[in-house]
Amino acid sequence: MQISIKTPLIESVVLSQITGSEVWLKMEALQPSGSFKLRGIAHACQKHIAQGAQRFICSSGGNAGLAVAYTGRKLQVPVIVVVPKTTSERAKLLIAQQGADVIVHGDSWFEANDLALSMLQEHDQFIHPFDDALLWEGISIMIDEVIEKGIKPDAVVLSVGGGSLLSGVALGLARHQLKDVPIYAVETDGTASLHASMLAKAHVALDKTTGIATTLAANKVCSNAFQVSQHANVKSVVVSDQDTVNACLNFLDDHRILVEPACGASLSIAYDQKVHFKPTDKVLVIVCGGSGTTLDVLQGYTFD
Ligand SMILES: *Cc1c(COP(=O)(O)O)cnc(C)c1O
Repeated sequence: MQISIKTPLIESVVLSQITGSEVWLKMEALQPSGSFKLRGIAHACQKHIAQGAQRFICSSGGNAGLAVAYTGRKLQVPVIVVVPKTTSERAKLLIAQQGADVIVHGDSWFEANDLALSMLQEHDQFIHPFDDALLWEGISIMIDEVIEKGIKPDAVVLSVGGGSLLSGVALGLARHQLKDVPIYAVETDGTASLHASMLAKAHVALDKTTGIATTLAANKVCSNAFQVSQHANVKSVVVSDQDTVNACLNFLDDHRILVEPACGASLSIAYDQKVHFKPTDKVLVIVCGGSGTTLDVLQGYTFD
C-alpha cells in the first residue's frame, strides 16, 4: 500500500528572483501527515509488519509520532505514542485524531521514552524518530522523484534535527551519482548539534538545546548523519529563530502553505540570501513541512 505520496516539485519564481538562481521546492509539507517523516516511517512500518510486527510504539509528540499514527491507521495496526507532559494539546489532539493511543508520562522526553521502551511486548515494534536505516531508505526516494522530473540539482538545502533527512537525501543523491552536490544543512542557533560536531570533527552532543525550533532539537545527530557530514559535500549553516519565523510567514504569503520554523530554517537560506548561488544553479529546497504550528503561534513570537 502506498502511504506516503509523491510530492510536487515546483519552481519558486519568488525565491528564484530573490536568490538570482533557479529554486525548486520539493513539497514534503504536502505529505498526508504534514512532513517528510511519513516517507521513512511508512517504509519502516511496512517492513516491520512484513516481519510480524502487530503494534507500533513511539515516543515523539511531534511529526514522527504523527507519521506513525497516520501509518498505523492506514495499515490498521494499533499505535501507542508516549509523550511527556510538556507536549502541546494540539500535538496530542493531532495524534489522537489519527486513532493512536496517546499516553502522557514524565517531565521530559527521556522519561516518556523510557516508558515507551518498557511497554514493548513480543510483537511490538519501537519506531525511532530519526536513527534507523529503514527511515533513510524511505526518505531517499524523494531524490528519485526529483531526478524523474528531469531536475538535476546543483545544490540541496535541508533542515537538520536528528539527521534522518540529511541521511536519506545523501543516500538518494549517491544513488544518482550526485554525491558531490553540496548539501546546505541548516540548523537554528539553539539546536546546532550537527554544526558542533562538524566544528569538532567528532560526533559530539550539545549540553542542551534552546529556542522555538523544537522539531530540530536533538542534542546529538545520529551517527550516520555525522558520517555523511564527513564524507559528502555538507555545508553547515546556522540561522536565528527570528529568521525561521520570518521565512515561514513569507512562505505562507508567497506559496500559501504553512510550515514549522524547523522548515522555515531552510527557507530562510533563500529568503535572506544566506548562500550565494550561481545564476545557472538549480537549487533544490526540501520543504520539510511540519504540523506543529499555527499562524497565531507564528505571529505571536517576539524577538529582542
Ligand atoms: C523531523 C523534522 C526535521 C528534522 O529532521 P531530522 O531527520 O530529525 O534531521 C525537520 N523538519 C521537520 C518538519 C521535521 O518533522
